[in-house]
Amino acid sequence: MSATCTHLDSVKVTTLPAAIRGCEECLATGGVWVHLRMCESCGRIGCCDSSPGRHASRHAASAHHPIARSAEPGEHWSWCFVDETPVTPNPS
Ligand SMILES: [Zn+2]
Ligand SMILES: [Zn+2]
Ligand SMILES: [Zn+2]
Repeated sequence: MSATCTHLDSVKVTTLPAAIRGCEECLATGGVWVHLRMCESCGRIGCCDSSPGRHASRHAASAHHPIARSAEPGEHWSWCFVDETPVTPNPS
């Protein structure tokens, strides 16, 4: 059903921080976001593709960090931006 993702070894962080203030880029620039994502390579919080800034996918492209997870409460899915497929990293 889903394509094979070969990027799971880039996952370093799967646990959300205890407190999330919001998209780091939007907070710095005064932007607004819709939903939040967390980069699973470095833990950076960014906003989703429904947000004007799209900082999660832009971070993924610029930093070559392929996998991010939802940072929304109760959401546990992860996504590979390179393969454009849901992925399941091993929980830490
Ligand atoms: Zn992948
Ligand atoms: Zn943002
Ligand atoms: Zn990152």
